[in-house]
Order: sequence, then C-alpha cells, then structure tokens
Amino acid sequence: MRVAACGVCGSDLPRVFSKGTYRFPLIPGHELAGTVEAVGAEVDSSWVGRRVAVFPLIPCRRCAACESGAYAQCADYDYLGSRRDGGFAEFTCMPAWNLLPVPDGLPLHEAAMLEPAAVALHALRRARLDAGDSVLIMGAGPIGLLLAMWARVFGAGKILIADINIERLRFARTLKFDHLHDAGSGDTAAWARRKTAERGADVVIEATGASAALEQCVLAACAFGRVVLLGNPAGAMTLSQAAYWAVLRRELRMIGSWNSSYSELPRNEWRLALECMADGRIEVGPLVTHQVPLENLRGRIEMLRYRKGFACKVMCVPRG
Ligand SMILES: [Zn+2]
Ligand SMILES: [Zn+2]
Repeated sequence: MRVAACGVCGSDLPRVFSKGTYRFPLIPGHELAGTVEAVGAEVDSSWVGRRVAVFPLIPCRRCAACESGAYAQCADYDYLGSRRDGGFAEFTCMPAWNLLPVPDGLPLHEAAMLEPAAVALHALRRARLDAGDSVLIMGAGPIGLLLAMWARVFGAGKILIADINIERLRFARTLKFDHLHDAGSGDTAAWARRKTAERGADVVIEATGASAALEQCVLAACAFGRVVLLGNPAGAMTLSQAAYWAVLRRELRMIGSWNSSYSELPRNEWRLALECMADGRIEVGPLVTHQVPLENLRGRIEMLRYRKGFACKVMCVPRG
C-alpha cells in the first residue's frame, strides 16, 4: 500500500519514547489509509489502485477467540505499527483481509481516522447508549471528541465533556459541544450532577487513563449507570472509599472496552464507522488539525511529547 495518511495515536508516544515497541527496530503507525500499489499472486488483482483504510490487527484466525470472530481477543496476533512495520512510511504491506475499500468522496486523510472512530464506536456500543441518555466523557482528545460525535449519532441527551486542558475544551466548542468543564478547576462529578438535575449521567466514559478521572467518573454516574473504562491507564487506577460505595449503592456497571469488532456479526464496527464518515453522520475532517510530511514527523511527535502547542489529530502525510 502506498500510504496517503497515518495518524499519530496517543499510544504511539510511549511506544516511541519510553515503553518501546513489541519488536525493534519497527516503524510505528496503525491509523492508516492509502492506495493499493501491488498485490501478491494469491490476491485478487482488482485491489490494485483501490483506495483503502486498514484494520491494523492481524489475528491468527485459529484460536478460540478468532473462531468466534472476537479478533481483538486473539491469543496470538500481529499488529501494524506495534508488532510489525506500520504506516509512518511511504509504503507498507498487510494481508488483503485487513483492507476496507474507502467510499468515493471520503478523503484518505479522513479515512485514516477510521481506527479511532471504530474504537470510540465500540465503547459506546459496549455502554448500550440509548436515546435520551446523558453522557459524560472524561477526556477531550481525538477519542473523547469522537465519543461525543457518536453520542450525538446515537441520540444521546446531554453530552458533557471534561478535560484538564483548556485548549482542548475550546476546540470542543468549535465542534458545537456546549457542556464543557475544566476538570482541573473543580469537581467534575458535582458539575455533571448539576447538569443532569442531580440525577447523574446515565453513561460515563473514562477516556484519559488518569486515576483521578476514574474517581470522578464513578461519582458522576446515576443509579444503575454504566461506566466505560477506555483510557490506557497511566499507572494504578484507584477509587476512594466514597467512590467504591457509589459503585455498590448505585449498582453501577463497570464496563471494559478494548479495540473494536471487525467481524460481520453482531456488527462490523469498521464498516459502520466508514459508512457514517462517508455520509457525513460523523465528521472527522475538523479533528485533523495537522498534516505533516514524513521528514517533519519526528519534530511534531516531539512537540506532542512535551505538549508544545495545541493539536487534536496529527496526521502524517508521507509525501506532503
Ligand atoms: Zn490508535
Ligand atoms: Zn486468534
């Protein structure tokens, strides 16, 4: 595949700067789209020249999880950008099974948003968000904003967004989200309860990986509310006694969310997300705030590491 665009994911920063990749050396980048340049002898040659987005997980397709279509639970998987070379390159390759044709009219730098869009969609489907449900989203990064967009598509009631980063909240406002809270300035749970007439949020999504945010998520949930755990944990995730009591007394459901569903049953979330991106139900274009050619990527990733300047989604466009 000739890479047209590959997004920088929050998970790429530890991969590049601290934790490292599963194998080394390795080219990161798992949020990619491009054009098929050539195929192997066993692959249908009609793929050549097609615009495609990529499901970056390569499952073994032999284990029990794979047999049931739960590829994200595969016991022996490969992964573009963490276990094998990914998309921060002019060319990369993968099995044809991992390709999704991009509908005409959807630019490839938007199609490269498919992975985070599918991850966010999966989290909301895990929460079984229903029409009129209020939602609190902790974290206004690309995933948090995609969650908020999906919540709109699902027919949510109030959509509340909290973050400690004011610039992210300002950016959220440009996307016409109005219920925004500076999580650093005060008690997010109390704010969420005020915003919901003291009921609490029906669905709360932890999309930061910070323990303090988890605490607020639990305290913000209504009775029988659902708390979705989505953010990669930055360290130990702990609850105070009061928050723990809230889990018991309000009979909260704590729901883990991991990756997304790529099997046709019950739903291929990648195809659904691509459809919604193509017909405009989800508008990912504005989330791409930076498009940088390969030679400038290193500097831009350094800026993300040290949080210099605002960026929502940084997209590597190898040839500029
Ligand atoms: Zn990602
Ligand atoms: Zn497997």
